[in-house]
Amino acid sequence: MYWNANIECMAVDDLKKLQYRSFKNLINNLYSFNKFYHDRMKGAGVHPDDLRSLADVQKLPFMYKEDLRENYPTKLFNVPNTEIVRFHASSGTSGKPTVVGYTQNDLAYWTEALARSLTSIGIGSNDILQVSYGYGLFTGGLGLHYGAEKVGASVVPTSNGNTERQLELMQDLGVTAIACTPSYLMHMSYTAEKMGIDFRRDTCLKKAVLGAEPWTESMRAKIESAMGIKAYDIYGTSEQAGPMFSECEERNGIHIGADIMYVEIVDSDTGEILEDGERGEMVVTMLKKEALPLVRFRIKDITSLMKDECPCGRTSPRISRITGRADDMLIIRGINVFPSQIEYTLMRIPQIGDQYMIEVSREGALDNMKIQVEIKPEFFSDKVEDMVKLRAHIESELKKYLNLAVPVELKAPGALPRFEGKAKRVIDKRVM
Ligand SMILES: [Zn+2]
Repeated sequence: MYWNANIECMAVDDLKKLQYRSFKNLINNLYSFNKFYHDRMKGAGVHPDDLRSLADVQKLPFMYKEDLRENYPTKLFNVPNTEIVRFHASSGTSGKPTVVGYTQNDLAYWTEALARSLTSIGIGSNDILQVSYGYGLFTGGLGLHYGAEKVGASVVPTSNGNTERQLELMQDLGVTAIACTPSYLMHMSYTAEKMGIDFRRDTCLKKAVLGAEPWTESMRAKIESAMGIKAYDIYGTSEQAGPMFSECEERNGIHIGADIMYVEIVDSDTGEILEDGERGEMVVTMLKKEALPLVRFRIKDITSLMKDECPCGRTSPRISRITGRADDMLIIRGINVFPSQIEYTLMRIPQIGDQYMIEVSREGALDNMKIQVEIKPEFFSDKVEDMVKLRAHIESELKKYLNLAVPVELKAPGALPRFEGKAKRVIDKRVM
């Protein structure tokens, strides 16, 4: 099932022509009417006439998150205030948040992207979708809400929090699908267990649409076996609009709406474009955005463009699972470590529950990492000997996979903090 087969299954050459035309229009418009882009392009010695093919896009300068912060809140907007119909803002973990504005058309394209994604997952008018993403300045709640209504699903707009009530509603209304962060679904699963709710027996839940934080294949396996559902990855940051693009039923890479977003993968250090299949930093150009245009925006997520065709019949490009953000990479005693690698290793060890915490600190010139993991109730024991053995096993698995000796501390079930929105799993105590 396709939502918009014309675009989703368009011949690749035609898609590229379409992208080039959109690019041309976008750059002509920005060069003529937007001071920021005009100055940037002048500074780089590029004129819109230099864009003679899609490959020429790499002549254009990059744009960074810092550009949005420096122009806080709305200096980069490209339309008059009268055309803005909504604002969202990122949480701003470091410094000022970034504010994103939307015109009517921006919202329409966002919803269109989500309608395609939900249809590709098989969510439609027969479904009851519980949206447990936060509603408000965060884009997850309202984004999924309108996308789901567009495909005719019945939306249960619970937002996040009040988990026991959410579980009751899920049962009472016969919810068939849920959209939230993977860590919140883990939290729900944990709460359900305490309430004696068995997802297979007591609910109609079949599918979960999960995103807004990086997660791994082993986390997916854990969620699916605990809850008896299928979990799908959805992607999009607030700068792009919000969650937009997802896996199809094949669950092998995220389909990108090529008419909406142009993706390049570059080497994080040199900015050079990498071949399809090579992992690097994603750079995006939003081809349709009106309020807050983004041209060659360094999104910092690490992924690759997939080479092979998807058996679902969609020709739209796919990106592989995001393994982390260039910003998240930790360098511990000279070794590069992504938190997602740690999660991947931990989640494959059956005795470990779904909560863990990574702590990074500095002693003298040396960076240290310590990991706390929660043990599942059935494996938690008062016998010191058993726990010492288990700890040694976890440490040796981490050593094998990360090539780094990391001390592990075992925690009792329920001892680590839970997160109802985005999980914070890394505590960095180093003073920079
Ligand atoms: Zn597909």
